[in-house]
Amino acid sequence: MASQFCGMNKQEHASAVIRVTKVFHFEMAHALHGYNGKCAQLHGHSYALHVTVKGIPVTDPERSDSGMVIDFGDLKKTVNAAVVNRFDHALLLNERDRGAFDDAHTMFNRVEFTVFQPTCENLLLEIVQALKDRLPDGVTLCALRLWETPNSHAEWMEGDQG
Ligand SMILES: [Zn+2]
Repeated sequence: MASQFCGMNKQEHASAVIRVTKVFHFEMAHALHGYNGKCAQLHGHSYALHVTVKGIPVTDPERSDSGMVIDFGDLKKTVNAAVVNRFDHALLLNERDRGAFDDAHTMFNRVEFTVFQPTCENLLLEIVQALKDRLPDGVTLCALRLWETPNSHAEWMEGDQG
């Protein structure tokens, strides 16, 4: 009997904040300027980026994203445009190493000299800046986790910020 099919079908869910996460992957090379360890060498990582946003699911039944905080497809497009397309198969070098790598642009066309040390932590801060103004109204960035290796990741949490 339809009326007993679902206990919630006669009333709306109460509004509640929900977090949703999408996972992205990109390959990126870097070298850490002045670092006392192996990461001073030119090398690459297979990064995994977990993007978590939060909001109240859309309640308008006429909208295609009804019941969603954000359409996963829209989140994918936004993160790909702002982050993955920039970093995937790119080489990030500290601006302070430009002298040693000045001709890298002639060999590769995806080279970016950064004003920051291209660590996992600093990449997260770049990603926050790239994403924070690109999300729809009512949807906010609440956590980013960037895995540099299967054993090492850094995270940015909205609640930790001042
Ligand atoms: Zn590294």
